[in-house]
Amino acid sequence: MSDTLYIVVPCYNEEAVLPETARRLREKLEQLMGEGKISPKSRVLLVNDGSRDGTWSIIQGLHQDCPLFSGVDLSRNRGHQNALLAGLMTAKDRADMVISMDADLQDDINAVDAMVDKFHEGCDIVYGVRSSRARDSFFKRTTAEGFYRIVNFLGAETVFNHADYRLMSRRVLEGLAQFREVNLFLRGIVPLIGYNVGYVAYERGERFAGESKYPLKKMLSFALEGITSLSTKPIRYITLLGFLVFLVSLLMLIYSIVRWAHGVTVIGWASVICSVWAIGGLILLSLGVIGEYIGKIYLETKARPRFLIREVLEARDETAL
Ligand code: UDP
Ligand code: MG
Repeated sequence: MSDTLYIVVPCYNEEAVLPETARRLREKLEQLMGEGKISPKSRVLLVNDGSRDGTWSIIQGLHQDCPLFSGVDLSRNRGHQNALLAGLMTAKDRADMVISMDADLQDDINAVDAMVDKFHEGCDIVYGVRSSRARDSFFKRTTAEGFYRIVNFLGAETVFNHADYRLMSRRVLEGLAQFREVNLFLRGIVPLIGYNVGYVAYERGERFAGESKYPLKKMLSFALEGITSLSTKPIRYITLLGFLVFLVSLLMLIYSIVRWAHGVTVIGWASVICSVWAIGGLILLSLGVIGEYIGKIYLETKARPRFLIREVLEARDETAL
């Protein structure tokens, strides 16, 4: 009668940390099963996002040794969000609740207990929220918090200081499956699904081993992706900007007519060249932002698959052992 939990973990070149993560996740599942909070059919689902190191063979080994582990191997590297989605969609039909977390042990595994409790209290989505970012580097902390502020200012509803550590019930995943967009930004989409929501605070640790798979370049493109796939406000601001610039030029016109009427003629080379540059810059900026959205439309109309699965290591039934 108890509910089945799947813990979905996207892994990209995580051979340094995966054995330890797997050990702790296994302990956690066994403890929760012992307490009767989750069914014995619960599993850890490891998604290999086209790793170039030994990650997939580690996953195969885990699957061999212990029935608690199953795995999904993607056809190639598709990025964190798509790998996570592949895992969630695979787990959807097998579980009553799914928790997603990173492979690097930055998300405190002990928060799982509280999430499962909240699920039993009737929550459909439980967000893991970082209580402090003291362990992150100053740079990571300021850029990440700035990102949340900008995204929310631009009209998306993301949960402050929440990454992809969350519990979702089966009906939430069924809702998620209906969001067909290719430009996927889960942190912005999940709040749009609704149902009963809960929060669990946890302390964000340091990466246990290996290095971050999000260098600055990826972080910037992730932020841009997040903003443009969730909100069209930037386009509206461009219209506003264009209007303001137009107003300024009207004022300038009036000003020069007045000056002319007073008989003060100025050879205004400097002001002309300045405005040419300013307007040119603004036009290019605006075209860039609009182009960004058109590019999105282009990709969406193609409706390419978001991930392709090479192989699924099915959860083995414990009774079959
Ligand atoms: N990840 C992935 N595909 C990628 C990049 C990252 O599946 O292309 C996974 C990675 O293995 C980890 C999670 O996404 O489980 C978060 O990555 P990371 O910890 O490097 O990001 P950070 O915590 O530094 O933001
Ligand atoms: Mg990390």
